[in-house]
Amino acid sequence: MTAHNLRKMLTAVDRWYRRHARVLPWRVGPEARDQGVKPDPYLVWLSEVMLQQTTIPHAAPYFEAFRKRWPNVKKLAAASWEDVSAAWAGLGYYSRARNLYACAQVLAQRRGFPQDTKGLRELPGVGPYTAAAIASIAFDERIAPVDGNIERVVSRLWAIGSDGTEKGWRAAKVEIGERAQALADALPADRRAGDLAQALMDLGATLCTLRKPNCPICPLNPMCAARAEGEPEHYPAKAEKKAVPTRLGSAYVLVRGEEVLLVRRPPSGLLGGMMMPPGSVWSEEKLFDPLEGAPGKFAWEHVGEVRHVFTHFALKLDVWRAQAPARAKAAGEWMKAKDALAALPTVGRKVVALAVGGGNRRDSAS
Ligand code: SF4
Repeated sequence: MTAHNLRKMLTAVDRWYRRHARVLPWRVGPEARDQGVKPDPYLVWLSEVMLQQTTIPHAAPYFEAFRKRWPNVKKLAAASWEDVSAAWAGLGYYSRARNLYACAQVLAQRRGFPQDTKGLRELPGVGPYTAAAIASIAFDERIAPVDGNIERVVSRLWAIGSDGTEKGWRAAKVEIGERAQALADALPADRRAGDLAQALMDLGATLCTLRKPNCPICPLNPMCAARAEGEPEHYPAKAEKKAVPTRLGSAYVLVRGEEVLLVRRPPSGLLGGMMMPPGSVWSEEKLFDPLEGAPGKFAWEHVGEVRHVFTHFALKLDVWRAQAPARAKAAGEWMKAKDALAALPTVGRKVVALAVGGGNRRDSAS
């Protein structure tokens, strides 16, 4: 594509963004940017970490709660991990919370955020996409962050697809990244890279959607190769996802009055550092004795099963419940069941909700 055509695309995207930019709690819109308001890299970073694998409606209340409680990175770094992990509960992918917290410690030691992709990549847990997104949105570096929305728009603009294999999709992704970067490189000196990135994200989220791209009202319609071919929804043809294995295990909810017993998981690994009801190992083999790891000798009753899907496997937990006497002691921490329902990661909430809600044997809380 010629430089002239790239500029035409950029102009069309810019005009559209000025009229249709989404209002998002972490965003500084184009008009405010014109008036000199600068994005806060802390809020950009926070939103990008929260939005990985999570939708905007789901992440937005968490973002607001974090911003209110920890308005800057120093405050977040000074918070306890217990508070941060409890505030993150329900957002999923808990390694992100651990990385966020570790990164806040590093940032608090230095004066502010690194202002380019290279420096941002040196922060714990900041990968190529997040670094590019922060550099572009907060600092207007001419770098293309390629999230799912931008990937879809660019793949359609240039009709970049794959044969559905892993190899084909890897090659397509490289080309999509290069095309997105060519757009960022072609930006005139007076245009902001952050606006371009966010405009493409918005286009992908609102017009160039997965199943029903709204080509008739798209500002890129005259330049779009997939639209010209007639079936833009066929792009990008990603590699088929492999089925994930299922792991099995038991979760034990020991109830003492209004409280339930919780234990903190080891700091690394899945749900690392998060509070959970005690449980067995999770294995692809059925447990020989489902009560083997249950805390103490209580009258355990099977109350149902909970299913939860993690990135690499699906989990099926048999949930057991027992009543403990008023002054019973057990290794762990007692927490009011209603507080646990707010503070636990999603799979833990499902377990407690099933147990304290009196679920029946056929109940599945997935
Ligand atoms: S014309 Fe259609 S397929 Fe092409 S970018 Fe716009 S919405 Fe997407």
